[in-house]
Amino acid sequence: MLDERGLTPKKSLGQNFLVDHNLLRKLVDDAGVGPGDTVLEIGPGAGVLTRELLERGARVVAVELDAGLADLLRETIDSDRFTLIEGDAFAGGALSPDALDALGDATWSLVANLPYGVASPLIVDLLVRRPACRSLHVTIQREVAERLTASPNTREYGSLGVLAQSLASAELITLAGPRCFWPPPTVTSAMVSLRRLDEPLTDRPQAFEGFVRRVFMKRRKQLGGILGRGVAASAGIDPTRRPESLEIGELVRLMASADSA
Ligand code: SAM
Repeated sequence: MLDERGLTPKKSLGQNFLVDHNLLRKLVDDAGVGPGDTVLEIGPGAGVLTRELLERGARVVAVELDAGLADLLRETIDSDRFTLIEGDAFAGGALSPDALDALGDATWSLVANLPYGVASPLIVDLLVRRPACRSLHVTIQREVAERLTASPNTREYGSLGVLAQSLASAELITLAGPRCFWPPPTVTSAMVSLRRLDEPLTDRPQAFEGFVRRVFMKRRKQLGGILGRGVAASAGIDPTRRPESLEIGELVRLMASADSA
């Protein structure tokens, strides 16, 4: 399809197209997409995943930055459940207002083989600032998947995993080697799901985001040195502990204690 239109994959836009249909179905199965559901797809590319989502009966809002691919999608996908927005899905560090308009008032899920350049900030934005987004099912770089699902006292544990797991349950669906994509990327990929928790661990996600980032900038320092011994002690936490050892609930308590100090 790309050849016919004289298009070649652009590395700068993370254009590694998913060509393994079993994997693609696995992602859509995991999302449990069915008739009546609304799905946001970022970076539909040539529309392989988009078609699968439409076949399952979903309404799909897709945002594609590449003008050549957007033309291809307009020419090849004919469905009244499909809305294409041509443009940057994440300009200025927030989800495109055009996409939000098209999604409307309904709750929705993100199902996407994400451009790896925007994956982490986009995931945080949707979880922290877009409560209508109930779940995310995405293909991302393996390292990002490991950070999203990390436990305390591991190298991967940091602000990304803490924020994600304070609001959602994060699970690895499967790894995806370079040959599942065309052209093959230099890194291994992974499919991950993030399902919003009915009872999030924080009810102030935006404040928690700022707090967690601040604390993890000094992940190897003692808490007493970062927040003060009194803040740690009044949260019932040993001030000699380091951020990388803290459970999410402990970080939530520390923020409350820092606020009232
Ligand atoms: N969904 C297709 C698939 O699975 O084969 C393509 C996925 S490819 C990894 C990423 C797609 O995102 C490309 O089509 C690329 O042009 C598009 N893209 C990259 N940056 C984007 C952005 N900021 N906003 C919207 N689309 C973007």
